[in-house]
Amino acid sequence: MPKINCPNCKKIFFYQSIKDLPTFPFCSERCKLIDLGAWLDEKYRIEEPISPEALSRIEKKGGENG
Ligand SMILES: [Zn+2]
Repeated sequence: MPKINCPNCKKIFFYQSIKDLPTFPFCSERCKLIDLGAWLDEKYRIEEPISPEALSRIEKKGGENG
């Protein structure tokens, strides 16, 4: 029987067929949702408001000509 590590909880579990495992490669629907939620959370965290300092740097870059 093939075995697999759940990417979320690292639990090793066995499966007979991927068809029988709609949450593949996760062990459960819960782990699938947790992993997806963590991914989305991280994505939102990367996006931060632009600071005035960064803005002025962009303006300077655009004004320079050679
Ligand atoms: Zn799991």
